[in-house]
Amino acid sequence: MERQPQSALHPSDFSLLVTWFCYIGVTWTSHSMKILLINPKFPESYWSLKWAMDNFLPKKRSVNSPLGLATVAALCPDDWDVEIVDENIETIPLRPDADIIGVCGMGVQFERQKELLSYFKRKGYYVVAGGSQASLCPEDYAAFTHTVISGEAEYIWPEFCRDYRAGSPKPLYRETGNVSLADSPVPRFDLLDLKKYRAVSLQFSRGCPYRCEFCDIIVMFGRRPRTKPLRQIEKELDELRKQGVRSAFFVDDNLIGHKKHAKSLLRLIADYETRHHSGFRFGTEASLNVAADNELLSLFRGANFEWVFIGIESPNEGSLKETGKTQNMNQDMLASVRKIYSYGIDVLGGFIIGFDNDTTDIFEKQNEFIEESGILMSMIGLLTAIPKTPLYERLKKEDRLLLDAGSADNSKLRTNFIPKRMTYRELIDGYRALHHSLFSDHSISKRVRNKVRYFKRSDLKTEFTLSENLWMLRQFIERGLLPGGLSRIARFLSSFPWRKPRLIPMVISSWIMGLSMRDYMDRHFVGEFKRDDKRVRRYVTKMKQIFEHRRHKGGLVVTMREFANKAAAVRISMNGRVQEASFKSIGSLIEHLMQKTRSSVTLHIAEFPKEHLEPLARLLERLSRYGDRIHIQMDRRSRRIVPVDSSVFNLGLQRK
Ligand code: SF4
Repeated sequence: MERQPQSALHPSDFSLLVTWFCYIGVTWTSHSMKILLINPKFPESYWSLKWAMDNFLPKKRSVNSPLGLATVAALCPDDWDVEIVDENIETIPLRPDADIIGVCGMGVQFERQKELLSYFKRKGYYVVAGGSQASLCPEDYAAFTHTVISGEAEYIWPEFCRDYRAGSPKPLYRETGNVSLADSPVPRFDLLDLKKYRAVSLQFSRGCPYRCEFCDIIVMFGRRPRTKPLRQIEKELDELRKQGVRSAFFVDDNLIGHKKHAKSLLRLIADYETRHHSGFRFGTEASLNVAADNELLSLFRGANFEWVFIGIESPNEGSLKETGKTQNMNQDMLASVRKIYSYGIDVLGGFIIGFDNDTTDIFEKQNEFIEESGILMSMIGLLTAIPKTPLYERLKKEDRLLLDAGSADNSKLRTNFIPKRMTYRELIDGYRALHHSLFSDHSISKRVRNKVRYFKRSDLKTEFTLSENLWMLRQFIERGLLPGGLSRIARFLSSFPWRKPRLIPMVISSWIMGLSMRDYMDRHFVGEFKRDDKRVRRYVTKMKQIFEHRRHKGGLVVTMREFANKAAAVRISMNGRVQEASFKSIGSLIEHLMQKTRSSVTLHIAEFPKEHLEPLARLLERLSRYGDRIHIQMDRRSRRIVPVDSSVFNLGLQRK
């Protein structure tokens, strides 16, 4: 594979859960156990494709479904009452009817996972942590969980359930061997609201035969690929078909880790389609050597795989060698990508910058490679040392780790080690400049042209109806093309597949992906905040003046915090009674702030009177489109009466 998209659940999220014991003296057998499994909200990353989802798929709330939780749910005893809440599509219940609460999480979710676990533990629930972060670093959870599930869940989760029933759950369950995937149950897809996901996750294999130095997959799952029996995959497809799913994502880190088994899977899927006409279309992750096997590529095409994510990492041969990415060496990587296109399969690419062999010319080399390859979904990350990986151990020995820096998200303007052949500043500045170059209209257009040149026409029928397609086309023109002015329209037309009209949908969706990543970058990869901060300061002064006006007198206070190299944050405190007219003023001021600056806002609500609920609900409705930049903090009493959708806003759950 390759590095897992952050919005797809990691296979190791299969770990989770729970039991509790005799807090309240209930006899274990006296009632059916109730367990709530939670997938915490992901912080926005360019994997979220927020702009594309908001503008083109308004009925979808998240890119991928939480497969790990659905699998853990299937491992629960039959007489347990299991519920799944995915905070990426729905709000967290603050007082759920449950005995046990299990919260999973990848590294990027750790902060929210910790907040949820701490909150529910304080409220008296038995809490269990699982997921890839708990698998790698179970020691980080001791302070705020009752039990940690570390590693694949298939054997240790039922063991935990037995212990829980017996009233003696342990603080740590650790999987030490390799689980046979023949023992993995069909996930409880029925517990998920599948229509809210762009693609539904399923899994065929775990483990990867390669040994990339930075990779945590092989630390967790080993190097011997293990696969599910084909009859089980068929059952899973049956389930998805029953629920009307069309788009699915095999989350395997390298679907072709065991090529022979992968070919059998692809034959099965093609045969399944012939028998059922289910209209499934798939995406997955695989290593670049997929391009060397014509039969494999034909099978992918025959099984309706539309795209594959490939860890290309670097055009710099020295960097590939250094990191052990041998499968990408000694080959023409551009030719490999183009060959995959020639089978009508799109390529999403993972790239990494910051290897010891990278000097400042790497930015230009990556830029050139990515443009030539035509890869629009180019997920470029800074090399980051994930704990327990060989890279982490090496950098630790070399005393190059920046221990205070996080290692969870490699797509932000930071990393957690000292680079070797350039300064940290050069690395960050070069990384930002590379994104600015790649997501210009010029570069998007050039990449689309380079893809169209090699892409075989697609025979796949669109999954959308004619009216949905026409609506999306209008959205694309209004929200995507026109705001870029004449120059963007010209760039778009120069990338239009005049001679291959069947590629028009692919070209438009490539532009949408490019513009979506650019939207993310514009909001997050900002170099100079000073001018922006001045503007925020002006707004804050204006707010203060308005709030001090007689009409708005009440418990309203506004403050601003400035940070180094980060957008400013504004805090509005509503303490007690506030004039009703003030809600309107707050709404328009925050809306302006959101539109004109990159500031975030914290709305602090305390001593909230019930009669304010309606104007507050209207205010939140108005602000919901900016929810990812709005944090809501409430005191305990207000939290009980004010309904806030935590899948829209960042709802703070800290002790107040
Ligand atoms: S070892 Fe390399 S090829 Fe295998 S999953 Fe990890 S990064 Fe991908």
